[in-house]
Amino acid sequence: MTVNTEIKTYMNYINGKWQSSSTNEVQASINPAQKNEIVGYTPKSTKEDLDDAVTSAKNAQAAWRKLSAPARGKYLYKVANVLESRIEEVAETMTREMGKTFQEAKGETARGVAILRYYAGEGMRKTGDVIPSTDNEAFMFTSRTPLGVVGVITPWNFPVAIPIWKMAPALIYGNTVVLKPATETAVTAAKVIECFHKAGLPTGVINMVTGSGGVIGQGIIDHPDINGITFTGSDNVGKQVGQGALARGAKYQLEMGGKNPVIVAKDADLDLAVDATISGGLRSTGQKCTATSRVIVDSTVYDEFKEKLVAKVKEIKVGDGLEEGIWMGPCSSENQLNTVLSYIEKGKNEGAELLVGGNRITAEGLDKGCFVEPTVFDGVTTDMTIAQEEIFGPVLALMKVDNMEQAIDLANDVEFGLSASIFTSNIQNMLDFVDDMEAGLVRINAESAGVELQAPFGGMKKSSSLSREQGQAAIEFFTNIKTVFVKG
Ligand code: NAD
Repeated sequence: MTVNTEIKTYMNYINGKWQSSSTNEVQASINPAQKNEIVGYTPKSTKEDLDDAVTSAKNAQAAWRKLSAPARGKYLYKVANVLESRIEEVAETMTREMGKTFQEAKGETARGVAILRYYAGEGMRKTGDVIPSTDNEAFMFTSRTPLGVVGVITPWNFPVAIPIWKMAPALIYGNTVVLKPATETAVTAAKVIECFHKAGLPTGVINMVTGSGGVIGQGIIDHPDINGITFTGSDNVGKQVGQGALARGAKYQLEMGGKNPVIVAKDADLDLAVDATISGGLRSTGQKCTATSRVIVDSTVYDEFKEKLVAKVKEIKVGDGLEEGIWMGPCSSENQLNTVLSYIEKGKNEGAELLVGGNRITAEGLDKGCFVEPTVFDGVTTDMTIAQEEIFGPVLALMKVDNMEQAIDLANDVEFGLSASIFTSNIQNMLDFVDDMEAGLVRINAESAGVELQAPFGGMKKSSSLSREQGQAAIEFFTNIKTVFVKG
């Protein structure tokens, strides 16, 4: 690739130093709102670069795990302070690299700061239990030990929050880390790692190697010195990570796609349901794992809901997320845009009725970006591709039902099970939904795409390997539990 030397090249972070790849090859990050803009270059790393990072993390292990958890927490507080002082800069990079609006990018970066502080605090919490023994002369308790070196593989859609919600708990519980960020957002990742560097973490505790999934991601799966792998991304890649880790006895955690439903009951507050469907389905251009994609509406209120929804979707302002007043940015890349457009074609071909949107936006000013219209389909049936597969774009599929039992059956009629919402004022509907919905996040009168950092996060079915992230649940993956029996 011809490199424009006026544009910054970022580096890998290995053993406390910034290093280029052993081959000096780089990959470019492209602004999806202005495809002629290169945001930066990052190393297209090799297996040897990864080996160096793993060795560095392995060498740092013994001292880091011996440090007390509160002392490790002090480092996380420092990282939080550095990141907080750079929120605008990091957020701007994120918007330029993957397209989400500046407002949302700032919110995500602030979330990253909060997660770091949360896990810094977790370093003060008890982590074991005393268990009564049947032997009067014995003392029994549980003790948690770190896994060792943890490989962190992350997607492009939350390039600050997801790496942090994996790295912060990994570190607080005594693991050392090798991060492989998504290729598309490796510059944003480099800025996050700069904050760890500036905070002065001991050498080797945190490392980052950028590059392709096939080389660096696969290298993490296969590496004998990586003891645990935490992955977020698509279900196809997740399956490979799980199988590979299992084959060599490494611990793994997978969070993958969704096909999240919203149910609108006949007794719902329709205005609230419309706003939450739009926010949950179309913010971040529908590129959230928890994004609403199926909207299952009771026939009694179907037409009224549809009318209100379409009217509001037509008002959405699409454009470069760095500009004031823009509500929805571009798809994250040309590839992603083409995937979304191909799903829209499938929707039309399989008989769904396009109510609004459906096209690439080619208006002047937006023609150099990966923009697509927010799109709503009517008359979607559960056998259609757009009702079954994750689109990861701003596309809503409306489905009509006659009662709540049908609604929940339909909502469950997919392979995924990440998030699900219901809008209703009826307590029985709420209770049935909580009981019967096959999803890890079950939300009542709230959009599907909300996450709180102190609560367990994760899906069911094909969306997850069922271990939970965030909150206190994170300790289960990032530590191994030992039962200790002491006889005096
Ligand atoms: P992706 O699966 O293509 O990539 C995720 C990561 O895996 C990237 O770092 C990528 O480089 C790496 N990778 C690719 N091929 C690999 C291989 N063969 N071996 C190892 N690693 C490899 O996903 P994406 O397109 O970056 O992200 C979008 C997906 O992420 C969507 O499916 C979305 O639902 C999912 N996601 C899930 C959650 C969640 O918490 N459930 C959150 C955000 C995104």
